[in-house]
Amino acid sequence: MEDKILIGSHVSLKSPKYFLGTVEEAISYQETTFMFYTGAPQNGIRVPLDKMKIEEGLKLLNENNIDIKNVVVHAPYIINLASPKEETFNSSKEILANEIKRTEAFGCQFIVLHPGLHVGSGEEFGINRIIEGLNSVLDNLDTKVIVCLETMAGKGSELGKSFEEISKIIDRITKKSNIGVCMDTCHLNDSGYDVSDVDNLLNEFDKKVGLHYLKAVHLNDSKNLRGQRKDRHENIGYGTIGYDTLHKWVVNEKLKSIPKILETPWIDDKPPYKEEIKMLLNNKFDNSLK
Ligand code: FE
Ligand code: FE
Ligand code: ZN
Repeated sequence: MEDKILIGSHVSLKSPKYFLGTVEEAISYQETTFMFYTGAPQNGIRVPLDKMKIEEGLKLLNENNIDIKNVVVHAPYIINLASPKEETFNSSKEILANEIKRTEAFGCQFIVLHPGLHVGSGEEFGINRIIEGLNSVLDNLDTKVIVCLETMAGKGSELGKSFEEISKIIDRITKKSNIGVCMDTCHLNDSGYDVSDVDNLLNEFDKKVGLHYLKAVHLNDSKNLRGQRKDRHENIGYGTIGYDTLHKWVVNEKLKSIPKILETPWIDDKPPYKEEIKMLLNNKFDNSLK
């Protein structure tokens, strides 16, 4: 189990099979890990945990030697801890706290969170707000779950677009054992980072944030050139980052124990993950996907 490359994709969770269906789908793509939302990505409305078929899903994971500890949850987009609106700030904290509890109920340890959008209130205000929100949520919970701040493209007023911003947030989190980072290769590229030299980038991250905070990677190609702050994902090898670079992320020794998750667009209304994972593991680009 330990020598398997940890790679998977975003997989849906839906009625009637819920988590069992999610696991079945991930296994059908030959994934060794995966990521899911515990409900709709756009809102905080959630089906109760006892309807989720968690036990059945966990049993199937076990039979397939997939460790639930490597499976990643993504928090809904509606959360915005950087919001200057009191109402949004409060509901964001509430939804995040609930999602952390749900993450724990599935047996997962990582939940990926978009740090937030300052929506005109300024970067400093936004960052302070994120810190205040995260501390208020984490200080009031007794949990092993790690909230992984995602590196963002810097589209609009998105925060978390640089290692400096991520580090500013982490520095002031009281419960450091509950905070981590999820690097998204498309977002890093779009925010201006050169993702082609993986070791160099990880070194920079190590100096500015600390490599031990890195808990997950979103492995996506990008439709846009470096620094364009767009955030439009592309299929592996079909974008500006390219197959060779993304393959380097898959095999890098420092990323060995870290789940690498594809969030690439569907091709002809079908999930491309089985083929994309296959070509990444086979060390050979497949130009026939689209
Ligand atoms: Fe995300
Ligand atoms: Fe992502
Ligand atoms: Zn994105």
